[in-house]
Amino acid sequence: MRRGHARLSLTGQVALWSLVPVIVLGFVLARVLQTQIEQRTLADADQSAQLVARLGVQPWLTPRDLHEGLTAQSIHALDVQLRTRSVSDLARIKIWSAAGRIVYSDDHALIGRSLGADDDDLHDALAGHPDPAEVVTPALHTETASEAGLGRLVEVYVPLRFVRSGPPAGAFEIYLSYGPIAATVSHDERTIALVVFLGLALLWAVLYRIVASASRRLRRQARENDRLARYDPLTGLPNRTLFRERAAAAIGPAHTHIRPVAGVKAAAGAQWEPLPDRARADGASVAVLLLDLDGFKQINDTLGHSVGDAVLREVAARLRAQLAPDTLLARLGSDEYAILHPHARGVEDALTLAATVQAALQAPVTFDGVALNVEASVGVALVPDHARDADELLQRADLALDRARTRRGGVEVYAPEHHRSGAERLALLGEVRPALERGEFALFYQPQLALRTGRVTGVEALLRWRHPARGLVPPLQFISLIEQTALVGPVTLHVLDLALGQSADWRAAGLDLGMSVNLSARNLHDPALPEQIAALLGRHSVPAAALTVEVTESATMADPATAVDVLEGLRALGVGVSIDDFGSGNASIAYLAQLPVGELKIDRSFVTPMCASPRDEAIVRTTIDLARHLDLHVVAEGIETPDVCDRLAAMGCDTGQGFLISRPAPAAELTPWLVGRLGEGSVAAGSPV
Ligand code: C2E
Ligand code: MG
Ligand code: MG
Repeated sequence: MRRGHARLSLTGQVALWSLVPVIVLGFVLARVLQTQIEQRTLADADQSAQLVARLGVQPWLTPRDLHEGLTAQSIHALDVQLRTRSVSDLARIKIWSAAGRIVYSDDHALIGRSLGADDDDLHDALAGHPDPAEVVTPALHTETASEAGLGRLVEVYVPLRFVRSGPPAGAFEIYLSYGPIAATVSHDERTIALVVFLGLALLWAVLYRIVASASRRLRRQARENDRLARYDPLTGLPNRTLFRERAAAAIGPAHTHIRPVAGVKAAAGAQWEPLPDRARADGASVAVLLLDLDGFKQINDTLGHSVGDAVLREVAARLRAQLAPDTLLARLGSDEYAILHPHARGVEDALTLAATVQAALQAPVTFDGVALNVEASVGVALVPDHARDADELLQRADLALDRARTRRGGVEVYAPEHHRSGAERLALLGEVRPALERGEFALFYQPQLALRTGRVTGVEALLRWRHPARGLVPPLQFISLIEQTALVGPVTLHVLDLALGQSADWRAAGLDLGMSVNLSARNLHDPALPEQIAALLGRHSVPAAALTVEVTESATMADPATAVDVLEGLRALGVGVSIDDFGSGNASIAYLAQLPVGELKIDRSFVTPMCASPRDEAIVRTTIDLARHLDLHVVAEGIETPDVCDRLAAMGCDTGQGFLISRPAPAAELTPWLVGRLGEGSVAAGSPV
């Protein structure tokens, strides 16, 4: 029974169950109407019997007839009267005297008979209050024995009065044939039953239609709600909810038993090791790739949301075109997409997929003749390699993506050291201001060398945090955190203060060096920056020309108008402006050429491998040519081998920086090296640290 219900649609169930009250109502109605019809018909019979008695018979009787009996002549006259009145239904009539004797009957054999002691109905009629008409079936040895053989009858008693008041002078006992009456009754009943049936059927059909159409509307609404809850309306892709569900389904229960690596607490950030026996039967992993579009906010801000939306749709279409049917593509947030690869053969497979989707985004997206470069950073994590369940997998991929974002267009596979929970990040941020006050932020300096002469021309100041518990923390682990808050202002001023102080010290010692300092995007949104830098230059008596600020392409693109104002202000002071990590962003050359910039620093991802990679070498060569044509000073960072150094010199690169020349080092360690180097004319490998 229950199973039947489960299979029956909700509408079907309502239809079925609503039939029950409708049928019950039908029966009750039919029953009530039937009773009414029968009662009405009996009342009619009663009335016609009374008419027969009062109009057809009584006028031919006198009180004397009743008292003394009728003469044969009177009996005959009554017979004629009853025949001519043609009371068709009349089956029998008896006229009783008050003394209980039959004075007349159409069956003459009955005349003269006396009342039986048990005939209550007649007693009542003679007493003046007759019972209502009733249907009887005559039977022998009863009061109706004389009517046996006449079929079913309606029995009516009518008191016989010659004066209005006083006891009746006698009574009529009249029997009408029930046959014709029953035929009328059953005809009326059939008609009524048909009307009731049709009416209720119509009512039920209307109800069913209302319920069915309401249920259809509800089902449509439910489907639409489900779609809205699980799909992104802009791209039509699954959203985070559906993606998470699918990831969980792909992982299944098989990966839930993974134990933490021995000795590592099962806390956030712990490293997890799959149990060998829990590896999937097919040896496959479930990989999640999280993609974040670089510079999308800028497209939205400068070209408007309709272009932004079109870019998001185009990216969705391109990504979908690259994916195998069993991989799932979703849009998780504004410019964040996710790919679920349920049968990855390890990290290599996931990385190949990352490269494929990045390649799909390489061709510019064109709108109204404007070509936009869209690049994606990708974070990768796998079950069972990095996580146990869907939530952990997404979280780990997110951490990897955070790391990938720090290098535009980068791909990062999750590693435990990426792990920094929200609470940890907050805790670290909380420590920044006290650290500033306690002087825990220090600068390392990395020399820059004129490649043609081999002379040290300047240094780049690189921030380090001497954390009391964590030791020496490199900037990549906290700069992006600080950059998201207003703390970046005081931290940058502190760095500038330290760098210019050091610059002044070196100048006093006769070391005439340029000083490069990195700025964050947020610094370029602060119109007060040129003024603050002017004040610091003044305080340390360092000429503005000795200072260069390094900014990344993306930093200038976040709010181009303010950024250009701030950079113009610095240029007006005489401070140099350098584009750091050049080539890793997606700014166009035309855009960069408009900026008040004097220097390009080629990103080390092209420089370091250039001798082994013709593609990277071509990029470096082109950038150097470009810089020369735009009359820009060009610096190559990331020089690790003499080959690279020689090749760069041959290409005409102005300045070099890298581990080959020197690793970044504290001023105290670097100073003797600088003293030894300054004035020397050749490049020699060797680091002070
Ligand atoms: P950057 O400005 O591109 O700095 C160069 C980075 O490359 C430094 O990393 C340096 O140690 C590294 N490097 C230099 N030569 C080589 C080499 O030959 N091979 C390799 N593999 N790496 C080399 P570091 O010090 O970890 O700084 C990383 C980034 O942190 C910097 O990249 C810069 O963007 C940011 N940063 C550092 N200090 C500051 C600061 O004071 N303020 C801001 N806003 N950002 C800073
Ligand atoms: Mg730099
Ligand atoms: Mg750089």
